[in-house]
Amino acid sequence: MVANLGFAATGVFCFVLRWVGDGGGVLIFGAGEGGGMGDQCGHLDQVDVGAEPSGEGCVECLRKGGRWVHLRMCRSCGHVGCCDSSPGRHATGHYREAGHPVVSSFEPGEDWWWCYADELTFGVEGAPDYAHS
Ligand SMILES: [Zn+2]
Ligand SMILES: [Zn+2]
Ligand SMILES: [Zn+2]
Repeated sequence: MVANLGFAATGVFCFVLRWVGDGGGVLIFGAGEGGGMGDQCGHLDQVDVGAEPSGEGCVECLRKGGRWVHLRMCRSCGHVGCCDSSPGRHATGHYREAGHPVVSSFEPGEDWWWCYADELTFGVEGAPDYAHS
């Protein structure tokens, strides 16, 4: 799979997790669909279930006056950044700088998550939908 966050990966999840929000703030594995045991993300302990989006647009683009195509939200700290189809590629830049590997789509109607480190797309049942309007 190519590490391109410009696409909508709905329906091709490697595995599916179930969100357990307030119960100690952890994600547990739900009844997964497809995928072997070897290709699950090992970075879920870096997901902060309390993370909320930093704003309605890409942090860096808003600051510099740039433009974005699609937005991704960091699930460790809530940083909103633009996808690899955008000139700034600030979501990827945030991963490189902050080392936060897990993001989810910030686009309405898209519910996929992505781990940069594992290059895995997955779904999370019941996760809060922070997508911008
Ligand atoms: Zn991972
Ligand atoms: Zn940006
Ligand atoms: Zn982050």
